[in-house]
Amino acid sequence: MSVFMPTSIDEAVSLLAEHQGARLLSGGTDTMVEVNFNRFKPDTIIGLRRVDSLRSYEITEKFVTIGAGLPYAEMETGPLAELFPALAAAARTVGSPQIRAAGTLGGNLGTCSPAGDGLPVLAALEATINLRSASGVRSVPFSEFMVGVKRNSRRLDEIIESVTIERARGFQDYAKVGVRNAMVISVASVCFAHDIERGSVKIALGAVGPTIIRAREAESWLCSRVDASNTLPADDGVASEFANRVSAEARPIDDHRSTAAYRRHAVGVLARRLYLRSTR
Ligand SMILES: Cc1cc2nc3c(=O)[nH]c(=O)nc-3n(C[C@H](O)[C@H](O)[C@H](O)COP(=O)(O)OP(=O)(O)OC[C@H]3O[C@@H](n4cnc5c(N)ncnc54)[C@H](O)[C@@H]3O)c2cc1C
Repeated sequence: MSVFMPTSIDEAVSLLAEHQGARLLSGGTDTMVEVNFNRFKPDTIIGLRRVDSLRSYEITEKFVTIGAGLPYAEMETGPLAELFPALAAAARTVGSPQIRAAGTLGGNLGTCSPAGDGLPVLAALEATINLRSASGVRSVPFSEFMVGVKRNSRRLDEIIESVTIERARGFQDYAKVGVRNAMVISVASVCFAHDIERGSVKIALGAVGPTIIRAREAESWLCSRVDASNTLPADDGVASEFANRVSAEARPIDDHRSTAAYRRHAVGVLARRLYLRSTR
């Protein structure tokens, strides 16, 4: 096996151009499981941990760009947690402290599991995924990036460099259920984001469809309940109707982790919970 450890993004993309099909490695928390279970035997690995630019973030007046190699631990607290509470909440639910010290959004996007905890947040916050190759940077909206179960639109010569998210004011949160309380892959998850300046509400559902689902019908129904001051009513009836509408937009399946019926029910419960939290 050949292992390359580039120290700059330019070096990494030229190595990838030379060795197309090489496995990119960020935290290794997905890849090493595949290796340990003999599901994958790499010929060539390009390790990205020494590329400092991938492990940083930049905050401007309107946007925040987060390097694909920034570990979850750095999203749980500090400036990113203040700007994107939903991202912090999702980061806190990932694995254990050891996994959060190594695992990255780039790896979550690379694997592209519908149960990946970072992905509903990127969907609800309408993040742009920045992909770098030897020919430059291509920016793709999250909605066009994830195209199926563990499938994305990254080309083989591209490295996920970063994600860009527009700053917004208002309530954001993320919640998931699994088969136990911690160290667990999502059985159903919801990200809820209310932008009080634009009066918009975005809801994204994880683990209840082949890709992350934006519950667009429930979003527009809820937006029509936003009052002139852009606040949402603390109303139990609205919360229940909203939960039913979110459940109706899920497309869950039965599998080893759960049944479709439980998943449909669970996203409704989570959506209701987050909605009521947003009105406090
Ligand atoms: C014990 C345990 C618990 C876990 N719990 C959770 C959990 O609660 N929630 C959750 O969502 N996940 C969980 N995971 C899965 C994993 O931690 C996450 O998916 C994490 O985000 C993967 O990031 P990574 O950097 O470790 O990815 P890696 O393993 O390095 O890479 C994963 C995939 O992405 C590709 N990739 C990595 N970086 C890039 C890049 N910059 N550009 C292009 N492709 C790239 C790799 O080639 C590979 O295909 C868990 C894993 C373990 C082992």
